[in-house]
Amino acid sequence: MIADRETTGLTIDGIRAAIADRKTTAAATASEFYARIKQEDPSIGAFLTLSEDRAQAQAERIDKMAAEGKPLPALAGVPVAIKDVMVTRDVRTTAGSKILENFVPPYDCTAVARLESAGAVVLGKLNCDEFAMGSSNENSAYHEVHNPRDKSRVPGGSSGGSAAAVAAEMAVATLGSDTGGSIRQPASFCGVVGLKPTYGRVSRYGLIAFASSLDHIGPFAKTVKEVALVLRTIAGRDPMDSTSAEVPVPDYVAELEKPVKGLKIGVAKEYFGEGLDIEVRAAVEAAIQKLAELGCEVVPVSLPHTEYAIPTYYIVATAEASSNLARFDGVRYGFRAPKARTLSDMYRLSRDGGFGMEVKRRIMLGTYALSAGYYDAYYLKAQKVRTLLTRDFDEAFKKVDVIAAPTAPTPAFKLGEKVNDPLAMYLADIYTVTANLAGIPGISVPCGENQEKLPIGLQLFGRHFDEATLLRVAHTYENSRD
Ligand code: GLN
Repeated sequence: MIADRETTGLTIDGIRAAIADRKTTAAATASEFYARIKQEDPSIGAFLTLSEDRAQAQAERIDKMAAEGKPLPALAGVPVAIKDVMVTRDVRTTAGSKILENFVPPYDCTAVARLESAGAVVLGKLNCDEFAMGSSNENSAYHEVHNPRDKSRVPGGSSGGSAAAVAAEMAVATLGSDTGGSIRQPASFCGVVGLKPTYGRVSRYGLIAFASSLDHIGPFAKTVKEVALVLRTIAGRDPMDSTSAEVPVPDYVAELEKPVKGLKIGVAKEYFGEGLDIEVRAAVEAAIQKLAELGCEVVPVSLPHTEYAIPTYYIVATAEASSNLARFDGVRYGFRAPKARTLSDMYRLSRDGGFGMEVKRRIMLGTYALSAGYYDAYYLKAQKVRTLLTRDFDEAFKKVDVIAAPTAPTPAFKLGEKVNDPLAMYLADIYTVTANLAGIPGISVPCGENQEKLPIGLQLFGRHFDEATLLRVAHTYENSRD
């Protein structure tokens, strides 16, 4: 009765079919994944909390349906895991921060609830940079995550645990969040697929806010098809999130098989300039060449404001973070400093003891950018540049269907390499923050390795709400490599 990893192929469809055919059970599948986590995760560090009771209850529900011969939902019995910035009812949710160390939320994030309604089994919560602020997962208040492909290296961030869990086959699919690249960059560093949908495509109800105009939830998996399956499950309007859009959700899986011939792929020189590693450049250029061989037309485009993206992002993101993080005051959630004597002492000491260095740095930067006298010079200016960056994409997408670029300027760097140099760390997001500022979808799909066998990611951007075309191009490219 116990199907091994080979029988299920570790894919969503394989696991679901094995359960439906009674070759295995959801409970056996979950146990098998927990055994793997116990074996692999001590040297990786992807998980912060395991939700074994919840997983078991869900697995029993699925097994009961299978035993009764009922049709199984799309993700039946599929082991998934969730970045610890999405709240889970009765399961500790820390956001990678000490300030939420013992926080047990009373409700579920919509994206998580939708996965479970589709039959997925939530194994646990995944490590990340504190409040999703970082590019290497080294800002977690708990422990760092090691890249499964080379454990001396970072998995990327801030959704490092989400990427590493998929890469090490400790979950079939995971959810992450992407405010400036935190899904795509770790996907590229760990050699898996990661998608940041359009702003508004996936409800963020229950996502602990970092920068609300930039935050997105999206999936990680080994293949584009699985990412499409997860997106289909979590996408769509949610009355609990006023920023979720009332836009029909296509059947992303069915769309994958449409031809890509004749699609126009834009290439912008701004994404191939100084600072781009030569092996990354070569792999991405070869991928673009491959798309041309598959019948796409490669067209040069211009995104002239790209050089302002990082400074713009770090004004907007920190400004919004300083406001969003005001709610962590020692009164309502989590950690409260024990020795405070006055109310203001309690606020100050709780925040001082609860937040880590990077979070404090962002709160200070953001508070400064929003303060009287500096608001116009920084925040307002950044908003204007954001509009220019968005217009760059609008213009480009009049000419092309998809834009191809590297996901990150380098492959995974060494743990510790950039921790003392915040600016160097911020530059790791140089090719990803633009999609958050413009709200367009972006995907990272593996496109090769460097000489040290470190994965390299190809990034594709699409028009607002056109994830289907992105997924289709990524899927066709992925198949052409196999
Ligand atoms: N690395 C970027 C930052 O530190 C992006 C983080 C994210 O997307 N959550 O802000």
